[in-house]
Amino acid sequence: MAAPIVHMFPCLKDNYGFLLHDPATGETATIDTPEAGKILAEAAAKGWTITQIWNTHWHPDHAGGNAEIVAATGAKVYGPEEVAKAAKRPDSVLHEGDTVQLGAIAAHIIDTPGHTLGHIVYHLPDHGIAFVGDTLFALGCGRLFEGTPTQMWDSLGKLRVLPDDTTVYCAHEYTASNAAFALSVDGANADLLAYAEGVKAKRANDQPTVPTTIGAEKRANPFLRADDPKLQAFVGHPGDAIATFAEVRERKNTF
Ligand code: ZN
Ligand code: FE
Repeated sequence: MAAPIVHMFPCLKDNYGFLLHDPATGETATIDTPEAGKILAEAAAKGWTITQIWNTHWHPDHAGGNAEIVAATGAKVYGPEEVAKAAKRPDSVLHEGDTVQLGAIAAHIIDTPGHTLGHIVYHLPDHGIAFVGDTLFALGCGRLFEGTPTQMWDSLGKLRVLPDDTTVYCAHEYTASNAAFALSVDGANADLLAYAEGVKAKRANDQPTVPTTIGAEKRANPFLRADDPKLQAFVGHPGDAIATFAEVRERKNTF
C-alpha cells in the first residue's frame, strides 16, 4: 500500500490547509476548508482533484470554503452534523467509531467535543497520522467555546492514548504564544524547555511548528498534563485533574 501524501500550507492569518492524497487511486481530501481559492490552487499545482472534504467542526475558518470547493470539484462532504451551522449539511454525517475511506486510506473518527460540541478528529491508524482540527494544538488546546472543561479533558484523553509516534496535524500556528503560556505554568519541565527552544528557532526561520507528535505533546503540553502532580500543585488543585485543566485553560484565556 502506497503511503498517503500530506501537503500542508498556510491559509488565512494563522490556519493551515491540508490536502491528503492517495497515490494508489488519485483521490484527494481537503481537511477543512479555511480558504477555498488557496486550497483549489494548491491542489491544481499538485495535479490533484479534490474528491472529498473532511470537516473537523463548523467554525467558518474550517467549513467556510465548503460551498466554493464543492461547486468547483463536486467533492463529497464528510463531517459532524453541526457543520450545518456554517455550510450545507454534510453528505455523510460522522460519529465516533465511523470509518471514512479515501481510496485505500482509512480514517477512524474520534469525537472530541469541547472547542465546539460537534468536533471530530480524523485518525489514520495504518499511517500514524491524526488531523485534530482545533482540539489539540502544539503546546495548546482549543478554546472552550461550546463545551465544558470535563468534556475537553476527556476529548484530549482520547488523543493522548494514540501511539506516541502519531503525527499530529493541528489547524493553527499558535505555538509560539502557546509556548510562552506553557512555560508560565510548567516552567521547570525540561521537555517543555527544550520544546520551546525548538519553537523559537523554527519561528525565527519562518518554519512551521506543525506537525507535532502525540509523544512530544504528552511530555510538554500542559493541557495534556492536568493529571501531573507538579502541575496540579502549581495551580492549586492537587489531586484534581479536571479542576487543574479548567484552571490552566482559564489562565490561558487571559494570558
Ligand atoms: Zn475553531
Ligand atoms: Fe480554527
